[in-house]
Amino acid sequence: MTSKPFPHPKGGPSFWRSAPGELDNYRSPEGIPPQIDIAIIGSGFSGGSLVTHLLNSMAADEKSILVLEARELCSGATGRNGGHLKPDVYNMASYLASKHGIDAATEVADFELDNVRAVEEYVRNSGADCDFFLTRAVDVQLGYDRLIDASVESTKSVFYLHGKDAEMIFKISGIKGAKGAFSYTAGHVWPYKMIHHMFSRAIAKGVNVQTNTPVLSISQSQEDDRWVLKTKRGTVLAKQVLMATKAYTAALLPEYHNKIIPSRAVCSRIVTPSSPPLLPNTYAIRFNDWDFDYLIPRPDGSIVVGGARRTYLKRLEDWYGNVNDEDLIKRAKHYFDGYMQRHFRGWENSSARTDQVWTGSESSPALLPKTTRKKDIVHFIEPLNKTANNSLLVMGYSSDRLPRLGRVPGRDNIFIMGGFTGHGMSQVFLAAKGIVQMVLTSCSYADSKLPSVFEETSERLSSPENFVMDLFNNLPSEPRL
Ligand SMILES: Cc1cc2nc3c(=O)[nH]c(=O)nc-3n(C[C@H](O)[C@H](O)[C@H](O)COP(=O)(O)OP(=O)(O)OC[C@H]3O[C@@H](n4cnc5c(N)ncnc54)[C@H](O)[C@@H]3O)c2cc1C
Repeated sequence: MTSKPFPHPKGGPSFWRSAPGELDNYRSPEGIPPQIDIAIIGSGFSGGSLVTHLLNSMAADEKSILVLEARELCSGATGRNGGHLKPDVYNMASYLASKHGIDAATEVADFELDNVRAVEEYVRNSGADCDFFLTRAVDVQLGYDRLIDASVESTKSVFYLHGKDAEMIFKISGIKGAKGAFSYTAGHVWPYKMIHHMFSRAIAKGVNVQTNTPVLSISQSQEDDRWVLKTKRGTVLAKQVLMATKAYTAALLPEYHNKIIPSRAVCSRIVTPSSPPLLPNTYAIRFNDWDFDYLIPRPDGSIVVGGARRTYLKRLEDWYGNVNDEDLIKRAKHYFDGYMQRHFRGWENSSARTDQVWTGSESSPALLPKTTRKKDIVHFIEPLNKTANNSLLVMGYSSDRLPRLGRVPGRDNIFIMGGFTGHGMSQVFLAAKGIVQMVLTSCSYADSKLPSVFEETSERLSSPENFVMDLFNNLPSEPRL
């Protein structure tokens, strides 16, 4: 595992980035200014949402804004994800309710539903041409039938079918072998196009954007309370710094080592030669509590499917602490072949085929599968720890599964938004709105109206809680992989 997770200089292709926009390598002509009011590091959904809310909340010339991006615009997780905006009002709500109580679960579920509506409103009002669709997500339980009663208000909008309704489940989901299904409001989008649109508006309003410019270090100025951001192209003094760096945060703020950890995931695009059967919803197919896929239908008839976890999760070196999104997780490559034929009714003779498979780094407190054998974990983690010169306990990369939002403890005027754990599309837009409120008004986290459990605190950063160790100690002896 790299202890300095800077973005890999070059990412591999993804469907979303197949026709890059004119801003992909954009650099504002003024270059790196010597000083700035607000520096945003990162140009994914987080960076784009931050700049959007900043410009919505103040006059364009009230504060100067600089965006620094290590590679091309939106070339991180946002340019390589599944495009699925799916509020997790059921599975996550259940987890949160049991760990943090019903109020916390309700707050997060409401926040995620509001986030989908806010993105839809943004796209509608700003005229972004990004294939946004508000739809229903059908979340199908395949290998098990689990009805979760989180008693969370938002789950009342969830339509749930299970057990004796098997025929109905099959009709509604269209998925072979479905044992239960949830259905609720969700969205899907072409993420790169949405972010490109956000930045085109920001640049038109005078925001300075510099792509292909990694920030190499952040340090406190000797003269005043500003922050010194070093790049190969110059140094800038910033009054406020907004970290939208996702998997790579620890390279600049070492306290995020093992708190926001790069891990890789896989997505694919499936195409059919003739007109395919209608897919009216987005879908998640859950095989068990750790193995699931998700897919969205595209207006061009293709389908973007993410997942394939069973093919690589056991091989820690394939995905854990690995920021190389140029290199495909090869074990996952053929997983999507015949996928629609295997799982969807009416697709058996569709000749659907895999058109493209890509990978991407996503910051997540690494979720080691419950089903991984102890000896497998030891086998892969020990060499990693030797590299990182750490003890086995640095498996504290199991953080607490929750996004990290707000002020970075001990660093005045540095703000963090990260740790979205593979689920950022459902959280980022409104998370940025809350952060911007703190940045511009100095209000407290509580007044930002962000979910209380997402607040970054020194307790969270120094917490001995170690999710991986908990899993590790409770692993079943036989893997289910
Ligand atoms: C394969 C895959 C599939 C996914 N599918 C889904 C999905 O369907 N639904 C969902 O909700 N979520 C999904 N996610 C997660 C989702 O994509 C992320 O949560 C979200 O995009 C995070 O946005 P971000 O802007 O915070 O991070 P990113 O998009 O990763 O942006 C961070 C940016 O910071 C830049 N950066 C980092 N360090 C520096 C530095 N030192 N200097 C300058 N720039 C720097 C990076 O180059 C990068 O462009 C998926 C992720 C992956 C990888």
